[in-house]
Amino acid sequence: MKLESILRLKRVTVFAPHQDDEIFGSWGLIYKLTKQLDKQIKIVFISNGEKGVPGAEPDPELALIRKREAASALQTLGITDLDFLDFPDGELSEHRLQIQKEIEDRILVYESELVLFPHHLDDHPDHKVVSDIILTVQSKYRDAFYLGYEIWSKIESPTLYVPLTEEEFTSKLETVGFYASQLKLFDYRSHIKQTMKDRGNEIDYPYAEAYISYK
Ligand SMILES: [Zn+2]
Repeated sequence: MKLESILRLKRVTVFAPHQDDEIFGSWGLIYKLTKQLDKQIKIVFISNGEKGVPGAEPDPELALIRKREAASALQTLGITDLDFLDFPDGELSEHRLQIQKEIEDRILVYESELVLFPHHLDDHPDHKVVSDIILTVQSKYRDAFYLGYEIWSKIESPTLYVPLTEEEFTSKLETVGFYASQLKLFDYRSHIKQTMKDRGNEIDYPYAEAYISYK
């Protein structure tokens, strides 16, 4: 499916394993979607984000902070439909069946037309579980168009590039800034910036995001 057709899809569900993955992976596309009429954009966060980095001790206070950060970040584009499933950060693989049930329910109830999620070769354990689950669900619910975004692990052969304007590029870097609790642990904005530039280079455009589509 071409980008212009994707931008016409109305009911969009973004699955983010952690608070910030939605911006990291697909903010440019989300930004473009919000500029179109009649969109219903829902962001579903799978984990409660209580660890921040793999191996850290769970911190309930951090989970609350990240929820507030997510609400503030997404509010910048008027997105208020956030859904926090609150599974334990770093342990999603231990809750696979419950997560699958929650994800299936949402795709069905929302009548999702576009589903965004981490691509299948993402090697972060939580991201990988979410990706695997969504690809399992996809085999049952084929009405939606499924698009994998990249966070840390690169997509080897993107099937879709989303060129980003200067405004979209800036918005992505500024909006990730709302996740101060994460940036305090590790400032990954330079990585995000470089990825947008590298992906842009591949299509002769200043900035871009790369995706893989699943049929
Ligand atoms: Zn993540």
